[in-house]
Amino acid sequence: MLSEPVELLKTLIALPSVNPMGGEADPEICFETRVTEFLINWSRQLGIEPIIQEIEEGRSNVVLLWENPHQPNSEVILLDAHQDTVPVAGMTIEPFKPVVQDAKMFGRGACDVKGGLAAMMSAFARIVQKAPPDAPSVMLSCTIDEEATTMGINALTNWLSTGDLPCPKPVAAVIAEPTELDIIVTHRGVVRWKIEASGTACHSSTPELGENAIYRMGQVLNRIEKYAESLPTQKPAHPKCGPSTLSVGRIGGGASVNIVPEECWIEVDRRLIPGETAQEAQQAVIDELQSLPFEVIHHQPWLISAPLPDDENEALATSLLKSIDEVAGPHETIGVAFGTHASRTARVGIPSVVFGPGNIAQAHTKDEWIEIRQLQQAAEIYYQFCKSFNVR
Ligand SMILES: [Zn+2]
Repeated sequence: MLSEPVELLKTLIALPSVNPMGGEADPEICFETRVTEFLINWSRQLGIEPIIQEIEEGRSNVVLLWENPHQPNSEVILLDAHQDTVPVAGMTIEPFKPVVQDAKMFGRGACDVKGGLAAMMSAFARIVQKAPPDAPSVMLSCTIDEEATTMGINALTNWLSTGDLPCPKPVAAVIAEPTELDIIVTHRGVVRWKIEASGTACHSSTPELGENAIYRMGQVLNRIEKYAESLPTQKPAHPKCGPSTLSVGRIGGGASVNIVPEECWIEVDRRLIPGETAQEAQQAVIDELQSLPFEVIHHQPWLISAPLPDDENEALATSLLKSIDEVAGPHETIGVAFGTHASRTARVGIPSVVFGPGNIAQAHTKDEWIEIRQLQQAAEIYYQFCKSFNVR
């Protein structure tokens, strides 16, 4: 059976698991089914009957649990990587034909995050096969739908928080994402929602008879722009992940140039720093626009992703950093602007960090690749970290 990270990654790249992210879903390449089936078979070859959490037809989390036979009820470490990739339109390489060239492997998902998944699988297989007597138990969760609506991690964290587990609740979580072997200990979150202003339509030759929704939105935008500028002074920036921000990214409205518009909408992207909640952040914008002399409609957010705070994961980061240093030399703990599964596992009380091979700059790109050396180092680091983990 495959347990070497480069061979595992080749296999995973050749199994398309594109998340259509709301776009057209080509059944030949879309969804995680092919990867899921491979993971289930691989797990059984390893002698582990996987826990399968079906989220939608053909879309399942696969959870592999190895309980250390030498230590009943030992602490559990959670390793998590997602099975899906972003779409492949516009790629300049063959997305599903892994190619090794210049000490890199190319293919969709090489960097985000099949490389991390392959490294975790390799480490997990070594732990299972060698069964180090002092090691903690290890749970490897391969989750679906990270790139879109995060259904996989939602189901996993619900399960982890119900207490209906075949083992003790994990005491630490390492989430695979490309970090160049640094450790993300904190990141920003985001809330996105739509705001609407309405008016009264009439013929554009008699605009005085109508109420122009676009002019109204102009007033909304003036207020929001000032509010966004004032955000950094209202709240000190987080030392590792920067300030709270707000950006209006889209606008639409009106039916025709000869009609006074009845409606106008915008879409807001508000980045959250640790300590902020999506609800408070949205409410602050609602309050800011309250005194306008017309109705402003705020839709329910369509995306909420919590920030990852760095107040519970220091011991975990220190322990992981030691394994990284031993294998790959000095690295550091960092904060980033993008979100990950770690904020979800942290919210159910599991200290969590993000660590993996590859550079986020190569994620989602038209010629996605990963450095083979980093892939192999990450596999070794996950193994060493699991084997020697001890936060007591
Ligand atoms: Zn990812």
